[in-house]
Amino acid sequence: MIKLAGLGKVALESNFKKLDKPYKLNFAITYWCQSRCMTCNIWQFKPKGELSIDEIRTFAKKNTSFKWIELTGGEPFLRPDIVEIAKAFYENSKGLYILTMPTNSLCSHDLIVRRIKEMLDIGIPKIAITISLDGYRELHDKIRGVPGNYDRAITTFKKLHDLQKDYKNLYFVFGYTMSGYNEGQFQRTFDAVKNDIPYIKYKDFHMNLGQISSNYYGNSNLDMLAKRKSVADELETIISKRERGFGIIPRIEDTFLKKLAEYVRTDSMPMKSKSLDASLFLDSFGNIFPSIMWDQKVGNVRDIGYDLKNVWHGELANSIRDAIDNGKEPKQWTSCEAYQSITGNITSLIK
Ligand code: SF4
Repeated sequence: MIKLAGLGKVALESNFKKLDKPYKLNFAITYWCQSRCMTCNIWQFKPKGELSIDEIRTFAKKNTSFKWIELTGGEPFLRPDIVEIAKAFYENSKGLYILTMPTNSLCSHDLIVRRIKEMLDIGIPKIAITISLDGYRELHDKIRGVPGNYDRAITTFKKLHDLQKDYKNLYFVFGYTMSGYNEGQFQRTFDAVKNDIPYIKYKDFHMNLGQISSNYYGNSNLDMLAKRKSVADELETIISKRERGFGIIPRIEDTFLKKLAEYVRTDSMPMKSKSLDASLFLDSFGNIFPSIMWDQKVGNVRDIGYDLKNVWHGELANSIRDAIDNGKEPKQWTSCEAYQSITGNITSLIK
């Protein structure tokens, strides 16, 4: 509860001033991935020279302000030291409240469940897993390029449902990425999942929009975005069906979705970004970016003694911040960045 209050306090502060240090870290711990997604080129990378566990420990020791860490990939569970990484941040960022991570469900279920259990046993107050699922069986397997991937995702959900009986601080949802490849197919997907998991609810799906990003997905050569109007219509239908949750977190998620529909319909940022203020994106080679969506490198942790303070308030970072304030950041409304924007523009939660 104290750590949740700490996260709330700093998120509230970000409404009124620039923060001294970021509280959210989006960290791609590896670019290795066994998937073959049509929406993302990360699986084609053969990354060399990714940050070692010792380097990550040094980074975690020198940067202790994080209250929310997203460990993403590639497929994060391909890193055999994922638990050590979580531990390094938990031991150093004393206010760490939540650790989030996606999975494509392609590692063995035993490994995924064991690693999550080990992370839960560390004592992190909340762990949230997003299980990628972009369509019903044939569609998901086609978009992801791996036969059997739909069934694996369903099994992951069921196994985490079992694990949750022993760990009340475990949360998980399906992550549905909307793109031109699954346009108009959400309801059919939901009905298929309901067949396999009768207790599934609409709110068990987290919706995302397929994004183009050269510094993260490496997919600026792809033409995969869906037609704006039909995505906005589909999102609004989903919003109308979602079961209502209570408390601040469901409220933030509802706002994220409503603003996503607005973003898609209007092609404009729903609110002021908090990139490079509340948060940053760190790639697996140590490069620092404002967000997953902007190929504007701020530095590399290997060149600054792994200490963000050596670059966070420097000339380059400040000029990027000015550009963000002046609306020059590429438009984005992604889960990695939007929540900091929502809580840093608190009036958005009142509307
Ligand atoms: S979207 Fe995720 S699972 Fe698919 S290739 Fe990219 S990193 Fe891998």
